[in-house]
Amino acid sequence: MDEPKAKQKRGKLSLVATPIGNLADVSERQRQTLAAADLVAAEDTRHSGLLLTHLGLKKPLLSYYKHNEAGREDELLARLAAGEDIALISDAGTPGICDPGSAILRAAAHAGFEVDAIPGPCAAIQALVLSGLDTERFAFEGFLPRGQAKREFLQQLAAEERTLVFYEAPHRLRETMQMLAEAFGERPMAVCRELTKKFQEVQRGTAAELNQIWQEREPKGEYVLVLAGADPACHTPEVGEEQLKAELKRLLDGGMKHKAAAREVAARYGLPVGEVYALGLALKRE
Ligand code: SAM
Repeated sequence: MDEPKAKQKRGKLSLVATPIGNLADVSERQRQTLAAADLVAAEDTRHSGLLLTHLGLKKPLLSYYKHNEAGREDELLARLAAGEDIALISDAGTPGICDPGSAILRAAAHAGFEVDAIPGPCAAIQALVLSGLDTERFAFEGFLPRGQAKREFLQQLAAEERTLVFYEAPHRLRETMQMLAEAFGERPMAVCRELTKKFQEVQRGTAAELNQIWQEREPKGEYVLVLAGADPACHTPEVGEEQLKAELKRLLDGGMKHKAAAREVAARYGLPVGEVYALGLALKRE
């Protein structure tokens, strides 16, 4: 009788967090996982090559980024099936958090492969903790939509009581700070810049105060914005349709455009802009 064949080893996929600016934040477990991997899938192979060199490791690298992640899935699953252990890293921080990683982890888990996430830095958590704002309950909103959609998005968050965390690119910081100040002027917030790096900076103040600083200062580096949630004590006052219409009318009579007036009144009461806009239309018909 034939001997039963030894069961072939199946590979394991590990999402490995990496530093967000300070190489001393590499953990022993991250180093071990990268050292043991047969393949390192990396968002930017050149950038990650430098990290591996810093760790004294030389590994086969495969590029894995936002625009090729779907196309890479079959190859990575085939390599796991062939028994290769794969470590996946992004440019900085925790893969899967505003970075590639979640889709392949889902696919690998679904296909029955062992998966793991090796913990480490994440800019959102670092900023939340450093902000000094309430950490009991928070909502991570990632990158805000661009342009006008950002204003509406922020207004929809007006009644959110949890602390809010946003990522923002330096070239959009001023615009975002301006919108935050318009929608949430007196709310406490923190602007967290260059976290874990030499020039780390955390500014705490109201949205209006911090906006003023950034309208005068050139944004440079990487930013996380943390905004206090709505205060439940002074929560959305009950407001009737007639009052909303009266406030809208006052703004419209003062020369404000319909959309802008709807936005302002909606933000005042934490209401959906569309709802207030519709009241404005009714007002025009009356
Ligand atoms: N996966 C990463 C993580 O775990 O934080 C986030 C990647 S996302 C593409 C990049 C954004 O994260 C930046 O635009 C910035 O908002 C934030 N970020 C990353 N590193 C940062 C740092 N050292 N200081 C402040 N913000 C940072």
